[in-house]
Amino acid sequence: MCRRLIIISFTWGDVDCNSLADKFGTPLYVYDESVINSRCNEIEQDFLQKWDNTFAYYASKAFSIKYMTRIIKNHGMGLDVVSEGELLTALHAGFPAEKIELHGNAKSFYDINSAVKSGVGRFIIDNIQELELLAKVSHDNNFVANVLFRVTPDVKTDTHAHISTGVKGSKFGFPIEGDMLNEAVKFALNDDYINSQGIHFHVGSQLFEPVSHLEALRKIIKLMLKLKRNLNFITRELNFGGGFGARINPKIEHVALKNFTDPLMQMLESECKANDLLRPRAAIESGRWIVSEAGITLYTVENVKRLPGILYIAVNGGMSDNPRYALYGAEYEAVNVNNPDGEIYNPEGRVSIVGKCCESGDILIDDAKISYTKPGDIIAIYNTGAYNFSMASNYNKLLRPAVIFANNGEANLKVERQTYEDLLKGELL
Ligand SMILES: *Cc1c(COP(=O)(O)O)cnc(C)c1O
Repeated sequence: MCRRLIIISFTWGDVDCNSLADKFGTPLYVYDESVINSRCNEIEQDFLQKWDNTFAYYASKAFSIKYMTRIIKNHGMGLDVVSEGELLTALHAGFPAEKIELHGNAKSFYDINSAVKSGVGRFIIDNIQELELLAKVSHDNNFVANVLFRVTPDVKTDTHAHISTGVKGSKFGFPIEGDMLNEAVKFALNDDYINSQGIHFHVGSQLFEPVSHLEALRKIIKLMLKLKRNLNFITRELNFGGGFGARINPKIEHVALKNFTDPLMQMLESECKANDLLRPRAAIESGRWIVSEAGITLYTVENVKRLPGILYIAVNGGMSDNPRYALYGAEYEAVNVNNPDGEIYNPEGRVSIVGKCCESGDILIDDAKISYTKPGDIIAIYNTGAYNFSMASNYNKLLRPAVIFANNGEANLKVERQTYEDLLKGELL
C-alpha cells in the first residue's frame, strides 16, 4: 500500500496561487476565465434566448483590456465604452464597432469624432450640447448616428451615494421631469443625421434586488407614453443599464441574472400591452456582475504590526491597485494562500489589511477575518475583478500589477507588469 501525501494549496482557475506569485510577482490580478464565460452564458440562456428582441452589453469600464473585449466579442455581446481610450482598446482587439455604444456625461469632440469615424452602433445621449455636436460630426462624415436618450428616473438605490446614479439631481442624463428631454428629442427628430432609437436608464451599481430597476421602469413606461403622445417619438429600444451585484466571496452563491431580468421583462411586456405601446428591444449593460467575482488580487505580506486593539497586516500594494475602500467603503474578504484553512487570527481584536501608500485611508479590508498571517505570506483578496485594474494609479510611484487569466490549470499573461521605464516614459527634464 502506498500512501499519497495530498497538499491542499489555494488555487484560482485551477492554478496554484503560490506558484503564480513566484512566477509573476505581486501584487497580481488573477482572473478565472471560466467564471466570466459562465456569466456570459447565463446572459445568453436566461436573457437573450429566453426573451425575444433583446441584447446585452458589457460595461467595459469595469475592466477594459483587449483580451476582455475579445471574450465579450466571442460571446456575440456588445460593449459599452465611455472614452476614446476604451473605444481604441476594443477596436484594437478587433471588436466590431457596430456592437459598441458610446456613453459618458462629458463626451469630448475627440470621443465623438473617433466613434463616428469608426462607425459605433449607438450613442447614449446625455445632454443637448453633445447631441448638437454629434449631429454636426455625423453630418460632416455623412454618418447616421443611432441614439438613445439617457434619462435619470429619479429613484433611490440601496447602495453608496457615489455609485448611485439614477437620483434626481444626478450629473448623468436628462431629468425625467421638465423640458430638457423634450427639447433634445425634438432636435433629434428634426435632424437627418440622428436616428432616435430609444431610452436608456441606469439606476446605480452593486444592487442585489430589482426594486429600483422596477421602480425606474414603471416611470420610464409613463415617459414612453408621454413622448409618443406629445412628440410622436416611438421608443424602439430600451436599455435597463447594469448594476447587478457581485458577492463578496466565492462561497456565497452568485446573484442570478434572471432575478433582475425576469421581473423587468414581465413588467415591460405587460405594461406595453396594456398601454398599446410597441414593446421595444430590451438591452442590459452589466459590468461588475460579469467580471468582478472572476478576479482576485494576490499580495505579499510585508509586515504584521500589533497595536492595542488592532493588528495591521501591511501588504505590498494598496489603494494604488484597489482604491475602492478609500472611494466608497467597498467591503472585501481575504484568504491567506499559505494557510487557507487555518483558524481566524486574533479573534478578539480587529485585523486590518492595509496597503503601502502614504494615506491613512489606504485600507483594503478594515475588519478582516483571516487565518494566522506572517511576513512573506501571500494573501488573496476576492471579488476584485471589477473597478480595480481600471481605477489603478501610480500613486507613490508604485507600478501597476500584471494581469493573469487562469483557465483550467493554465496561466496566461494578459497585461505585463509596468516597468520603471514605462513609469518614467514621457517625463521630461
Ligand atoms: C457603470 C455603468 C454600468 C455598469 O455598472 P455595473 O454596476 O458595473 O454593472 C452600466 N451602465 C452605465 C451607464 C454605467 O455608468
